[in-house]
Amino acid sequence: MVNEKMCTVCGYEMEEGPRDYNICPSCGTEFGIHDVNSSIEDLRKVWLASGPKWHSAAVPQPKDWNPQMALAELLTSQWPISVYYSDSVENIDAGGVTSSSTTIPGDRQPAHF
Ligand SMILES: [Zn+2]
Repeated sequence: MVNEKMCTVCGYEMEEGPRDYNICPSCGTEFGIHDVNSSIEDLRKVWLASGPKWHSAAVPQPKDWNPQMALAELLTSQWPISVYYSDSVENIDAGGVTSSSTTIPGDRQPAHF
């Protein structure tokens, strides 16, 4: 379930939530700093372009970490805000997730639901 502790960039459930000066161990976003200078979408793009890969060296990557699933859940919850820059908005079913694919291109496109 989506909740207020989920990182707004990657969907990881943070211990303290995406508040000021908390760093998401999943995508490395430091809230109150990175999200002030860049948009959430830009931060997400950079993170996705990195793999996406687990960011934190201090916090071990959870065995069941699934960045694609976390992000898909996050984006679904925010629809349609998060897909405003998509070129294929007309292909998105307003009913929600219609694709079984969880592949998220590392380029500038969000997941296609
Ligand atoms: Zn994150």
